[in-house]
Amino acid sequence: DTFVDFRHVYLAYSESADFAVEDINLQTRHGEFIAIVGPSGCGKSTFMKLATGLKPPTRGKVCVDGAPVTGPLKFVGMAFQAPTLLPWRTTLDNVLLPLEIVEPYRSNFKRDKAQYTERALALLKTVGLDGYANKYPWQLSGGMQQRASICRALIHEPKMLLLDEPFGALDAFTREELWCVLRDLWTERRFNVILVTHDLREAAFLADTIYVMSKRPGRIVARKENPLPQPRD
Ligand code: ADP
Ligand code: ADP
Repeated sequence: DTFVDFRHVYLAYSESADFAVEDINLQTRHGEFIAIVGPSGCGKSTFMKLATGLKPPTRGKVCVDGAPVTGPLKFVGMAFQAPTLLPWRTTLDNVLLPLEIVEPYRSNFKRDKAQYTERALALLKTVGLDGYANKYPWQLSGGMQQRASICRALIHEPKMLLLDEPFGALDAFTREELWCVLRDLWTERRFNVILVTHDLREAAFLADTIYVMSKRPGRIVARKENPLPQPRD
């Protein structure tokens, strides 16, 4: 039942550097939503790189979905704090982008484009962006761009969604609205989520389990099951 499995994981960015993270032990269940909180520089992004195979551990073992991670994983979707929509593409074409890049969708992109478009429009509708498919990023508010980024991260139905401070740049009202959007999507689809955030309220609102990291050394110093009842199907 374990999905992400870290066993005594260490990473140093170079031979002379100190460990950026050390002795990370963490196991998630299938469909679990975890949050990682901690000060800047504690190793949250490093953790993400290890979990997605962008960096191999210097020591220890990382498995995801039952297999050792040996290179960049394909079944992940990501969204970040800075808006990363391509400005020359419409909302719809931004959301479709992973399907143009990731196999097995890529090979049949032209043939299946109508079906993919339908899927993208349905996803945009669930986040309240119906009517914005043909607008460009500059025509959308920050919150709307972030909704579109989440759609793009989910369009290829990834097993794992990684969110690195996804709502950090938004005002408090928009942020809480997007928490609900994300929670509804997750309740319905049950992908695995790793959320990195500075915002303890955000972690408490969204996650099943919260991990707290410390700085120097970059370690997990606390693990807390969320006492709030999470929506279950
Ligand atoms: P966070 O995401 O929590 O802010 P990071 O994972 O980015 O923390 O950084 C953890 C530590 O690793 C920091 O000391 C940072 O300076 C170092 N670090 C991060 N990325 C690199 C890199 N590419 N090369 C060298 N050191 C890095
Ligand atoms: P969000 O809550 O998504 O950040 P805002 O608070 O900026 O959005 O805007 C509130 C509402 O105003 C949006 O849901 C949308 O209906 C409308 N809106 C915002 N920006 C635009 C725009 N550039 N073009 C058309 N409508 C917009």
